[in-house]
Amino acid sequence: MPARAAQRPPPAVPVSSREGAAPVRSAPTEFAGTRELARAELLAAPVRWPRPSRLERALVLPGKRAVAGLRTLGLETVGDLLEHLPSDSREARTVAALGPGEQATVTVEVRSIASRPVRRRRMRPLVEAVVFDATGSMRATFFNQPWLVERYPPKTRLLLHGKSDGRGRFNVSHHAPAQTGIGEPAGEPPAGDSVAHYPAAEGVTSTQILTLVQGERAAFGDIVEILSARARAAERLPDRASALAAMHFPRDQRDPELGRRRLAYEELLLMQMLFLRRRAQRHARAGATALAEPPTLSARWREHALPFALTGDQSRAIAQIDEDLAQARPMQRLLMGEVGSGKTVVALHAMLRAVEHGHQAALMAPTETLAEQHFATLQALLGGESVSAALLTGATPARRRADILAKLASGELSLIVGTHALIEPDVVFRSLALAVIDEQHRFGVRQRERLVQGRHGAQAGSSDTDDPEETVHTLHMTATPIPRTLSLARYGDVEVSALHELPSGRRPVRTSIVGGEAERAAAYERLRAELAEGRQAFVVCPLIEEDPEAADAEPQAVAGADGRAVLRAATAELERLREGELAGYELALLHGAMRPREKQEAMEAFASGRVQVLVATTVIEVGIDVPNATVMVIENAERFGISQLHQLRGRVGRGEHRSACFLVGPPGAARLRALASHSDGFKLAEIDLELRSEGELIGTRQSGQRQFRIARLPEDAPLLELARGRAEAILASDPQLGEPEHALLAGELQRRYGEDAAAPIPG
Ligand code: ADP
Ligand code: MG
Repeated sequence: MPARAAQRPPPAVPVSSREGAAPVRSAPTEFAGTRELARAELLAAPVRWPRPSRLERALVLPGKRAVAGLRTLGLETVGDLLEHLPSDSREARTVAALGPGEQATVTVEVRSIASRPVRRRRMRPLVEAVVFDATGSMRATFFNQPWLVERYPPKTRLLLHGKSDGRGRFNVSHHAPAQTGIGEPAGEPPAGDSVAHYPAAEGVTSTQILTLVQGERAAFGDIVEILSARARAAERLPDRASALAAMHFPRDQRDPELGRRRLAYEELLLMQMLFLRRRAQRHARAGATALAEPPTLSARWREHALPFALTGDQSRAIAQIDEDLAQARPMQRLLMGEVGSGKTVVALHAMLRAVEHGHQAALMAPTETLAEQHFATLQALLGGESVSAALLTGATPARRRADILAKLASGELSLIVGTHALIEPDVVFRSLALAVIDEQHRFGVRQRERLVQGRHGAQAGSSDTDDPEETVHTLHMTATPIPRTLSLARYGDVEVSALHELPSGRRPVRTSIVGGEAERAAAYERLRAELAEGRQAFVVCPLIEEDPEAADAEPQAVAGADGRAVLRAATAELERLREGELAGYELALLHGAMRPREKQEAMEAFASGRVQVLVATTVIEVGIDVPNATVMVIENAERFGISQLHQLRGRVGRGEHRSACFLVGPPGAARLRALASHSDGFKLAEIDLELRSEGELIGTRQSGQRQFRIARLPEDAPLLELARGRAEAILASDPQLGEPEHALLAGELQRRYGEDAAAPIPG
């Protein structure tokens, strides 16, 4: 009996957990399972002798349109075809099981076929075939294709996709001859469980692609395995050919995922190997200025000018940066920390290290406003230390700009803060040693590289040196906390420092969930008490105007006074509060649909203390800094995402007073509970990730361009961790990938990412 016709596999085994993995067996097992194969099965299994060159064969195709269609899909060779993965698989049906109106794919054999004239004018004759599988027969109808009578004579095996009427008729929308698979008994239509569906294109249908793949079954034997047996055994992954076969020809519902998982692992592993090798190459490359002298200016600044003690995280980040800077290899470090976590202080320390060695440092921000803010913060932080610094943006007047450029070139200016204006071609540094780049994802890679290229005046001529791209120490800063697993995918080739703690003196905002009217009354009680103390408050609503339809559609919203679900709208809420809970207090409205001047006025009124309560939409997420505000009530909090709630909450707790945040919403909501128990943005990002993987936020996830072809994040985060660990282990034992065991992996790395990816790392 052939191996493929073997019995149904046993129930799913837990796949791949490095710790809990069962001992690796020595006897061969079936695909993605643990059942050992019997001797007879092993003998009957096809012997594979991979010859990958055979995958380079051009695809042979019927018809010009199909050729064009396949070209659109990027399919030219047999190898391309095998890598063209199904977008999903649908259950294949048997004839007997077809229900009325059901769209389905069946594999059948033709018993008889004939054409029949259609009465309506200008319609070509109809073709009707009696087709059957192991479970029964039916009458299949093909429209407008009289030639099929010749093409599909009796005994032809067909794949048909179409719609059943449930009474023995089947309207065919796509059809193609079915190939007999390896080891499948000819003449006996298989009753398969799943049929792969492929991304198709004009001229070629999914069903046609399936038959092409079926026709190339033998080619699966030519696929080479790039993972070592050790890795596959440890991670419990099927071999590459089986994984692809499982996706193209699923035998049951879990086959496609088992296959996908293996291919995703491979994709992630290769990416992590690329990252780690890039890093190793960078480390091996000298060229940056080693800043290794004992601190002078920076030490004085920390001791005398800095008005506060550094947090533990800040000190740790500074120590890591000092160590990076002391090397002749260029630093590439990412500093993650929420707004207010004290990144600028850390960056300034690094910049002063450059300055005290007689070099220059630059800080680049994505917008003019941010650049101005940074410049002001730096000047304030510098205190009494006199360090020559300037601000350069698009708005800098020409005369001033010329002056700044001259001083950068002469070295008279030590620190420069700016926007893209810093990377204009005529900006030349005498000796740039450090670039700090804020919110780097907002810059294009090109722009980043241009600053980092460090066009030192002295080096401008010698372009035949190594890659000039990374000769300047670089510190990237981001305020978006990214959980480790995701940062591996995005920043796997850089070192990361994270600021978790908020600076001392900042107290976490006490957060509670308000589930009903009584609790809401208590929340407003507290709010009024704070106002009585002279403090201020925010009330945040999800909508600007009342929208009756949305209210009805929102079953989770807290019941209003009339018992009906209410989605709070800022405009109406302001009126309601004025009459009710907050009668007699000064209230103002702030939302995105207001004119800029009105917004400005509202914010100023609040900042000055004239207005006590700001009733707002999420516009307050950005830019409001009123340390006297100590209470925030967020209506319909379940409508917001975790990070949004966290950002909103960050608007209070900025001063010396204890602050409170009330989340009005269902007390059971996981997101709200997360906010109530954690204040660390990183922790919350992790929880967010977990909840998302459970699908709680399906639909809200941005489906921007995909980073991976097969892997999916965050779902595959655990797989990414495995891949990272494996990549580290492989490169630790064989950094040059010179071992025979790694030859195919190195080849694949090169094929996917280019020559450089597997280039030797200089000793
Ligand atoms: P970020 O750049 O991460 O948003 P900043 O460096 O601008 O944060 O710091 C935010 C505020 O906190 C600044 O006013 C800064 O002076 C202050 N700050 C930073 N570090 C500390 C600290 N260790 N102790 C007290 N205040 C600090
Ligand atoms: Mg800052």
